[in-house]
Amino acid sequence: MEIIKVVPRGYCQGVVRAIRIARQTAEQYPDQPVYMLGMIVHNRFVVDACEQLGIRCLEASGTSRLDLLDQIDSGVVIFTAHGVSDAVFEKARAKGLTIVDATCPDVEKTHRLIREHISDGDVLYIGKKAHPEAEGAVGIGKRVHLISCKEDLNALGKLENVLITNQTTLSMLDNEELIRECLKHYPAATVQAEICNATTMRQKAVMDLRDIDLLIVVGDPHSNNSNQLKEIGKKAGIPAALLIETAEDLSEALIQGAKRIAVTSGSSTPTPLTNAVIETLENYARTGVFQRTKLSEPIL
Ligand code: SF4
Repeated sequence: MEIIKVVPRGYCQGVVRAIRIARQTAEQYPDQPVYMLGMIVHNRFVVDACEQLGIRCLEASGTSRLDLLDQIDSGVVIFTAHGVSDAVFEKARAKGLTIVDATCPDVEKTHRLIREHISDGDVLYIGKKAHPEAEGAVGIGKRVHLISCKEDLNALGKLENVLITNQTTLSMLDNEELIRECLKHYPAATVQAEICNATTMRQKAVMDLRDIDLLIVVGDPHSNNSNQLKEIGKKAGIPAALLIETAEDLSEALIQGAKRIAVTSGSSTPTPLTNAVIETLENYARTGVFQRTKLSEPIL
Protein backbone atom coordinates (compact mmCIF):
# COMPACT_ATOMS: atom_id res chain seq x y z
CA MET A 1 0.00 0.00 0.00
CA GLU A 2 1.29 3.46 -0.93
CA ILE A 3 0.14 6.65 0.79
CA ILE A 4 0.26 9.83 -1.30
CA LYS A 5 0.20 13.05 0.71
CA VAL A 6 -1.42 15.61 -1.56
CA VAL A 7 0.27 19.03 -1.62
CA PRO A 8 -1.00 21.63 -0.91
CA ARG A 9 -3.57 20.57 1.68
CA GLY A 10 -5.01 21.91 4.93
CA TYR A 11 -5.13 25.41 6.38
CA CYS A 12 -5.04 28.33 3.96
CA GLN A 13 -3.64 31.76 4.81
CA GLY A 14 -7.11 33.17 5.42
CA VAL A 15 -7.89 30.56 8.06
CA VAL A 16 -4.48 30.88 9.75
CA ARG A 17 -5.04 34.64 9.91
CA ALA A 18 -8.59 34.28 11.34
CA ILE A 19 -7.39 31.90 14.05
CA ARG A 20 -4.52 34.24 14.95
CA ILE A 21 -6.95 37.18 15.19
CA ALA A 22 -9.33 35.14 17.39
CA ARG A 23 -6.52 34.13 19.72
CA GLN A 24 -5.23 37.72 20.00
CA THR A 25 -8.76 39.01 20.65
CA ALA A 26 -9.30 36.56 23.51
CA GLU A 27 -6.00 37.74 25.05
CA GLN A 28 -6.77 41.41 24.50
CA TYR A 29 -10.24 41.38 26.13
CA PRO A 30 -9.96 38.98 29.10
CA ASP A 31 -12.69 40.81 31.06
CA GLN A 32 -15.30 41.05 28.34
CA PRO A 33 -17.49 38.47 26.63
CA VAL A 34 -16.01 37.62 23.23
CA TYR A 35 -18.31 36.18 20.55
CA MET A 36 -17.62 34.66 17.16
CA LEU A 37 -20.42 35.49 14.73
CA GLY A 38 -20.80 32.01 13.24
CA MET A 39 -18.28 29.18 13.14
CA ILE A 40 -14.79 30.68 12.70
CA VAL A 41 -14.26 27.98 10.09
CA HIS A 42 -16.45 25.00 9.37
CA ASN A 43 -14.65 22.60 11.66
CA ARG A 44 -16.03 21.61 15.04
CA PHE A 45 -12.57 20.91 16.51
CA VAL A 46 -11.45 24.48 15.80
CA VAL A 47 -14.72 25.82 17.22
CA ASP A 48 -14.25 23.74 20.41
CA ALA A 49 -10.65 24.98 20.74
CA CYS A 50 -11.86 28.58 20.41
CA GLU A 51 -14.48 27.97 23.11
CA GLN A 52 -11.65 26.80 25.37
CA LEU A 53 -9.96 30.15 24.78
CA GLY A 54 -13.14 31.78 26.08
CA ILE A 55 -14.65 32.67 22.70
CA ARG A 56 -18.33 31.83 22.42
CA CYS A 57 -19.23 30.72 18.95
CA LEU A 58 -22.75 31.71 17.85
CA GLU A 59 -24.17 29.43 15.21
CA ALA A 60 -27.67 28.31 14.64
CA SER A 61 -28.25 26.57 11.39
CA GLY A 62 -30.37 28.68 9.06
CA THR A 63 -29.87 31.88 11.10
CA SER A 64 -28.32 34.82 9.26
CA ARG A 65 -25.36 36.76 10.64
CA LEU A 66 -27.70 39.72 11.06
CA ASP A 67 -30.08 37.70 13.25
CA LEU A 68 -27.23 36.07 15.20
CA LEU A 69 -26.32 39.57 16.42
CA ASP A 70 -29.59 39.59 18.38
CA GLN A 71 -27.95 37.11 20.77
CA ILE A 72 -25.30 39.68 21.82
CA ASP A 73 -25.90 42.71 24.05
CA SER A 74 -22.38 43.76 24.92
CA GLY A 75 -18.72 42.84 24.52
CA VAL A 76 -16.62 41.94 21.51
CA VAL A 77 -17.79 40.36 18.27
CA ILE A 78 -15.45 38.71 15.78
CA PHE A 79 -16.55 38.48 12.15
CA THR A 80 -15.32 35.25 10.58
CA ALA A 81 -13.13 34.83 7.48
CA HIS A 82 -16.31 34.45 5.37
CA GLY A 83 -17.04 38.19 5.60
CA VAL A 84 -20.26 40.02 6.44
CA SER A 85 -22.57 42.55 4.78
CA ASP A 86 -22.63 46.27 5.59
CA ALA A 87 -25.90 45.73 7.47
CA VAL A 88 -24.10 43.44 9.94
CA PHE A 89 -21.40 46.06 10.53
CA GLU A 90 -24.03 48.76 11.06
CA LYS A 91 -26.07 46.66 13.49
CA ALA A 92 -22.99 45.70 15.52
CA ARG A 93 -21.95 49.37 15.70
CA ALA A 94 -25.47 50.44 16.70
CA LYS A 95 -25.39 47.89 19.55
CA GLY A 96 -22.12 49.40 20.79
CA LEU A 97 -20.15 46.19 20.30
CA THR A 98 -16.39 46.17 19.79
CA ILE A 99 -15.90 44.79 16.28
CA VAL A 100 -12.96 42.60 15.27
CA ASP A 101 -13.03 41.81 11.56
CA ALA A 102 -11.28 38.57 10.52
CA THR A 103 -12.64 38.61 6.95
CA CYS A 104 -10.18 36.94 4.59
CA PRO A 105 -8.47 39.45 2.25
CA ASP A 106 -9.54 37.29 -0.71
CA VAL A 107 -13.20 37.65 0.31
CA GLU A 108 -12.69 41.40 0.77
CA LYS A 109 -11.32 41.57 -2.76
CA THR A 110 -14.54 40.03 -4.12
CA HIS A 111 -16.62 42.44 -2.00
CA ARG A 112 -14.68 45.39 -3.46
CA LEU A 113 -15.28 44.12 -6.97
CA ILE A 114 -19.04 43.83 -6.31
CA ARG A 115 -19.23 47.23 -4.61
CA GLU A 116 -17.49 48.95 -7.51
CA HIS A 117 -19.78 47.31 -10.04
CA ILE A 118 -23.26 47.77 -8.57
CA SER A 119 -23.22 51.55 -8.99
CA ASP A 120 -23.84 51.05 -12.71
CA GLY A 121 -24.69 47.39 -13.23
CA ASP A 122 -25.99 44.08 -11.90
CA VAL A 123 -23.97 41.23 -10.42
CA LEU A 124 -24.69 37.53 -10.76
CA TYR A 125 -23.00 36.00 -7.72
CA ILE A 126 -22.53 32.23 -8.01
CA GLY A 127 -22.59 30.80 -4.52
CA LYS A 128 -24.23 28.40 -2.10
CA LYS A 129 -27.59 29.27 -0.57
CA ALA A 130 -27.37 29.90 3.21
CA HIS A 131 -23.56 29.93 3.15
CA PRO A 132 -22.16 32.83 5.22
CA GLU A 133 -19.82 34.00 2.47
CA ALA A 134 -22.68 34.20 -0.02
CA GLU A 135 -24.85 35.95 2.58
CA GLY A 136 -22.16 38.62 3.06
CA ALA A 137 -21.70 39.17 -0.68
CA VAL A 138 -25.37 39.26 -1.60
CA GLY A 139 -26.02 41.64 1.30
CA ILE A 140 -23.85 44.28 -0.40
CA GLY A 141 -26.77 45.53 -2.46
CA LYS A 142 -30.05 44.80 -4.19
CA ARG A 143 -28.34 44.47 -7.56
CA VAL A 144 -26.41 41.38 -6.40
CA HIS A 145 -28.30 38.21 -7.40
CA LEU A 146 -27.43 34.84 -5.90
CA ILE A 147 -27.15 32.01 -8.44
CA SER A 148 -26.95 28.59 -6.77
CA CYS A 149 -28.26 26.57 -9.70
CA LYS A 150 -29.21 27.25 -13.30
CA GLU A 151 -32.93 27.44 -12.37
CA ASP A 152 -32.20 30.62 -10.36
CA LEU A 153 -31.50 32.39 -13.65
CA ASN A 154 -35.09 31.89 -14.82
CA ALA A 155 -36.40 34.11 -12.04
CA LEU A 156 -34.33 37.11 -13.14
CA GLY A 157 -35.69 39.78 -15.44
CA LYS A 158 -33.85 42.32 -17.53
CA LEU A 159 -30.46 43.16 -16.04
CA GLU A 160 -27.96 45.80 -17.11
CA ASN A 161 -24.20 45.73 -17.52
CA VAL A 162 -23.96 42.27 -15.92
CA LEU A 163 -20.89 41.07 -14.02
CA ILE A 164 -20.62 37.35 -13.17
CA THR A 165 -18.55 36.47 -10.15
CA ASN A 166 -18.58 33.83 -7.41
CA GLN A 167 -17.93 32.56 -3.90
CA THR A 168 -14.22 31.87 -3.29
CA THR A 169 -14.53 28.23 -2.18
CA LEU A 170 -16.64 26.70 -4.94
CA SER A 171 -15.69 23.73 -7.06
CA MET A 172 -13.86 25.03 -10.13
CA LEU A 173 -15.80 22.59 -12.31
CA ASP A 174 -19.23 23.53 -10.95
CA ASN A 175 -18.38 27.21 -11.15
CA GLU A 176 -17.34 26.95 -14.80
CA GLU A 177 -20.59 25.16 -15.58
CA LEU A 178 -22.72 27.84 -13.91
CA ILE A 179 -20.75 30.63 -15.59
CA ARG A 180 -21.61 29.02 -18.95
CA GLU A 181 -25.30 28.94 -17.94
CA CYS A 182 -25.18 32.61 -16.89
CA LEU A 183 -23.62 33.54 -20.24
CA LYS A 184 -26.46 31.79 -22.09
CA HIS A 185 -28.88 34.23 -20.42
CA TYR A 186 -26.58 37.27 -20.47
CA PRO A 187 -24.11 36.77 -23.35
CA ALA A 188 -22.63 40.26 -23.03
CA ALA A 189 -21.78 39.80 -19.34
CA THR A 190 -18.25 40.27 -18.02
CA VAL A 191 -16.82 37.32 -16.08
CA GLN A 192 -14.55 37.73 -13.07
CA ALA A 193 -13.94 34.26 -11.58
CA GLU A 194 -13.00 34.64 -7.92
CA ILE A 195 -12.20 31.16 -6.62
CA CYS A 196 -9.28 31.92 -4.32
CA ASN A 197 -5.77 30.73 -4.94
CA ALA A 198 -5.79 28.36 -1.94
CA THR A 199 -8.97 26.63 -3.13
CA THR A 200 -7.72 26.46 -6.72
CA MET A 201 -4.37 24.93 -5.74
CA ARG A 202 -5.99 22.30 -3.48
CA GLN A 203 -8.52 21.32 -6.15
CA LYS A 204 -5.92 21.22 -8.95
CA ALA A 205 -3.69 19.00 -6.82
CA VAL A 206 -6.57 16.48 -6.57
CA MET A 207 -7.37 16.74 -10.28
CA ASP A 208 -3.72 16.02 -11.11
CA LEU A 209 -3.66 12.73 -9.13
CA ARG A 210 -3.10 9.60 -11.23
CA ASP A 211 -3.72 5.88 -10.56
CA ILE A 212 -5.33 6.41 -7.16
CA ASP A 213 -7.68 3.76 -5.74
CA LEU A 214 -9.00 5.79 -2.82
CA LEU A 215 -9.05 9.51 -1.99
CA ILE A 216 -9.41 10.40 1.69
CA VAL A 217 -10.35 14.01 2.44
CA VAL A 218 -9.98 15.03 6.08
CA GLY A 219 -12.53 17.69 6.94
CA ASP A 220 -15.76 18.58 8.63
CA PRO A 221 -18.97 17.41 6.89
CA HIS A 222 -20.15 21.07 6.92
CA SER A 223 -16.99 22.36 5.25
CA ASN A 224 -17.77 23.44 1.70
CA ASN A 225 -14.17 23.28 0.50
CA SER A 226 -13.65 19.78 1.99
CA ASN A 227 -16.80 18.47 0.30
CA GLN A 228 -15.67 20.03 -2.97
CA LEU A 229 -12.33 18.17 -2.79
CA LYS A 230 -14.19 14.88 -2.46
CA GLU A 231 -16.51 15.71 -5.38
CA ILE A 232 -13.60 16.83 -7.56
CA GLY A 233 -11.82 13.55 -6.81
CA LYS A 234 -14.87 11.62 -7.98
CA LYS A 235 -15.21 13.75 -11.12
CA ALA A 236 -11.50 13.22 -11.81
CA GLY A 237 -12.22 9.48 -11.99
CA ILE A 238 -10.89 8.26 -8.62
CA PRO A 239 -12.97 5.11 -7.95
CA ALA A 240 -13.65 5.85 -4.27
CA ALA A 241 -13.55 9.08 -2.24
CA LEU A 242 -14.25 9.51 1.47
CA LEU A 243 -14.69 12.58 3.67
CA ILE A 244 -13.72 11.82 7.26
CA GLU A 245 -13.33 14.06 10.30
CA THR A 246 -10.56 12.22 12.15
CA ALA A 247 -8.53 8.99 12.21
CA GLU A 248 -11.31 7.60 14.43
CA ASP A 249 -13.49 7.39 11.30
CA LEU A 250 -11.00 5.08 9.56
CA SER A 251 -11.39 1.32 9.62
CA GLU A 252 -9.48 -1.54 8.11
CA ALA A 253 -12.49 -2.43 5.95
CA LEU A 254 -12.54 1.06 4.40
CA ILE A 255 -8.97 0.89 3.14
CA GLN A 256 -8.49 -2.81 2.46
CA GLY A 257 -7.69 -3.59 -1.15
CA ALA A 258 -6.62 -0.03 -2.00
CA LYS A 259 -3.06 -0.04 -3.33
CA ARG A 260 -2.60 3.73 -3.69
CA ILE A 261 -4.39 6.00 -1.21
CA ALA A 262 -4.21 9.80 -1.55
CA VAL A 263 -4.83 11.98 1.51
CA THR A 264 -5.78 15.64 1.41
CA SER A 265 -7.68 18.03 3.67
CA GLY A 266 -9.85 21.11 3.38
CA SER A 267 -8.49 24.58 4.10
CA SER A 268 -10.41 24.61 7.40
CA THR A 269 -8.95 21.31 8.68
CA PRO A 270 -6.41 21.46 11.52
CA THR A 271 -3.09 19.82 10.59
CA PRO A 272 -2.99 17.49 13.64
CA LEU A 273 -6.19 15.77 12.43
CA THR A 274 -4.72 15.12 8.99
CA ASN A 275 -1.39 14.02 10.45
CA ALA A 276 -3.13 11.40 12.62
CA VAL A 277 -4.91 10.00 9.54
CA ILE A 278 -1.67 9.85 7.53
CA GLU A 279 0.20 8.20 10.40
CA THR A 280 -2.54 5.58 10.81
CA LEU A 281 -2.36 4.72 7.12
CA GLU A 282 1.45 4.72 6.97
CA ASN A 283 1.71 2.44 10.00
CA TYR A 284 -0.79 0.06 8.43
CA ALA A 285 1.11 0.10 5.13
CA ARG A 286 4.38 -0.66 6.97
CA THR A 287 3.24 -3.23 9.52
CA GLY A 288 -0.05 -4.62 8.26
CA VAL A 289 -1.52 -3.88 11.70
CA PHE A 290 -4.43 -1.46 11.79
CA GLN A 291 -4.25 0.87 14.77
CA ARG A 292 -5.62 4.41 14.82
CA THR A 293 -3.10 7.09 15.77
CA LYS A 294 -4.33 9.15 18.71
CA LEU A 295 -4.33 12.92 18.48
CA SER A 296 -1.25 14.16 20.32
CA GLU A 297 -0.77 17.75 19.12
CA PRO A 298 -3.05 20.62 20.20
CA ILE A 299 -5.66 21.74 17.64
CA LEU A 300 -4.74 25.44 17.82
S1 SF4 B 1 -10.41 29.38 1.44
FE1 SF4 B 1 -9.66 31.16 0.32
S2 SF4 B 1 -11.14 32.77 0.69
FE2 SF4 B 1 -11.51 31.19 2.21
S3 SF4 B 1 -10.30 31.83 3.98
FE3 SF4 B 1 -9.01 30.47 2.76
S4 SF4 B 1 -7.82 31.84 1.41
FE4 SF4 B 1 -9.57 32.99 2.22
